[in-house]
Amino acid sequence: MSSVSMPQVAGNGLEPGFRGVICASFGAAGDTAEQQSDSQPKLDLHFEAATPQTLSELRSVLGSSSVGVRLFLSGPTADIRAAAAVAAECGLHQEEMTLLSEEAAPRAIYCPHCHSTTPTFQPAGSEVPCQGCGTALVTTDHFSRRMGAYLGYAARVEEAS
Ligand SMILES: [Zn+2]
Repeated sequence: MSSVSMPQVAGNGLEPGFRGVICASFGAAGDTAEQQSDSQPKLDLHFEAATPQTLSELRSVLGSSSVGVRLFLSGPTADIRAAAAVAAECGLHQEEMTLLSEEAAPRAIYCPHCHSTTPTFQPAGSEVPCQGCGTALVTTDHFSRRMGAYLGYAARVEEAS
């Protein structure tokens, strides 16, 4: 008399009200983080790059699954930053996103003088000339989510002539 009825689990496709892990990778990035447990439903997405088209795709996925979703983003920093911005628009909080940026991606350094950002491959502590105003900026490890860039500061105080 013990007939156990197993609940059917939807295989693929994202149902409305999806609650689980969404892994989105960009560019040549291979598998996204494999360390999560299998206890949650998981959706893998792969995009060539963060173009308006792929971002609107991501937007529609996230739009149908707003609550209880965790988002893992991997790939070049610029791409996952753009994707994170879309996710934020869709109502995801920072703590619901994990950004796994590639080492090889250039970091954007924010210049406090002219407010422009300069991409660089230099590690933190290096001097990079600002592409906006030419100030020698020391790069830091301090990432500003508001600026979407690492904060830099002037290596030397120089009088602008
Ligand atoms: Zn500058």
